[in-house]
Amino acid sequence: MAADPDRPLSSRGVAILGSTGSIGTTALRVLARQRDRFHVAALTAFTNAGLLAEQAAEFGPTYVGLVRNGADGAHPGWGSGDACLIEAAVRPDADIVLNAVVGAAGLDATLAALEKGKRVALANKESLVMGGALVTAAAERGGGELVPVDSEHSAILQCIAGRPSTEVRRLVITASGGPFRRWTSKQLENATLADALQHPTWRMGRKITVDSATLANKALEVIEAHFLFGLSYDRIEVVVHPQSVVHSFVEFVDGSVLAQMGVPSMELPVLYALSYPDRAADTGVPPFDPVELSPLTFEKVRARDFPALELGTQAGRLGGAAPAVFNAANEQAVALFLEGAIRFVDIPRAIESALGRYSSAPAGSREAILDADAAVRRHVQELFRC
Ligand code: NAD
Ligand code: MG
Repeated sequence: MAADPDRPLSSRGVAILGSTGSIGTTALRVLARQRDRFHVAALTAFTNAGLLAEQAAEFGPTYVGLVRNGADGAHPGWGSGDACLIEAAVRPDADIVLNAVVGAAGLDATLAALEKGKRVALANKESLVMGGALVTAAAERGGGELVPVDSEHSAILQCIAGRPSTEVRRLVITASGGPFRRWTSKQLENATLADALQHPTWRMGRKITVDSATLANKALEVIEAHFLFGLSYDRIEVVVHPQSVVHSFVEFVDGSVLAQMGVPSMELPVLYALSYPDRAADTGVPPFDPVELSPLTFEKVRARDFPALELGTQAGRLGGAAPAVFNAANEQAVALFLEGAIRFVDIPRAIESALGRYSSAPAGSREAILDADAAVRRHVQELFRC
């Protein structure tokens, strides 16, 4: 695949890890409108060779990787296996690596890209939660830069606008409340997978949709905010905002509160993570109409009925291996829930059990974190074995 002679010299190369998913396809929609500023350097996916081939034909990357290459026909020119994420992440023609893989599988690619001094546009919050200290150290060593894709963290970044963390009193992260916002604890006992997958405001992959229903997603986001913005957990709060129009608030030390708003659409935070600190025109985001979007309302989190948020925040405060344990237990429990093997309310129970047993596991290296991750997954599987 030769370099495109029509490509502007200033165009920045973007590697998209997880290009067939919800964030990956949103990113390609965004990039199709930004061909003078960015080009696609690499694409990877887990399965779905058909969609990946269509994307490759449209965007002409120099590298294509499919983890399960060969499962439905061989693609000889493509990379394969877990290594293809790293190969895509360290490509010399990739200035920016959009990590849109789901789950712990994204960790090594985040580390590798930061070590190579790249910008990581981070959708894969799990890699920062499980390896916060490692990820921060890799960025410092390699000169790489983490820019969030998550809409709440993109909002916070836009509100902070370069001011030092000493000027920030508090972050208030908004949560839609998910499909079960009004369900009683008794109703939650019988919540089905179909119920959990009906998110009121966002269309996303299945794992994050379930995380939004348990509020484990908000716990991951609190930990993500702690590492991205360097604030203690006492200064990070969550409020329920069912319309998902205010994407988060930042309160400064003088009492002024800034919010970033917009219709619920991932196109803006994806593009902002690529163009930051610049703003690019033509995002495809629908125009903002405050009357149409009103009323905007806010509620307290029902912490007792959605224990995953508090469990995750406590894991963040504990530090060490605890956030990785929280993440692994949640991932394994969600996988079992998606298979129909456990109930919705079993997810926080699995997390609590794993945290009780593994929170103080060693966490000083990538290997130690991966060992804790594997032990926790086995523990959660054992927990539900009849
Ligand atoms: P998704 O399930 O729709 O897509 C996941 C992508 O990763 C797919 O391309 C898939 O092929 C690939 N993938 C899955 N498992 C893999 C593995 N083991 N190795 C390599 N590739 C693998 O998920 P999504 O909703 O796009 O979410 C992706 C990430 O972005 C998650 O971390 C999620 O929390 C985060 N995020 C998503 C949204 C959203 O609106 N969807 C918003 C904020 C943050
Ligand atoms: Mg979010």
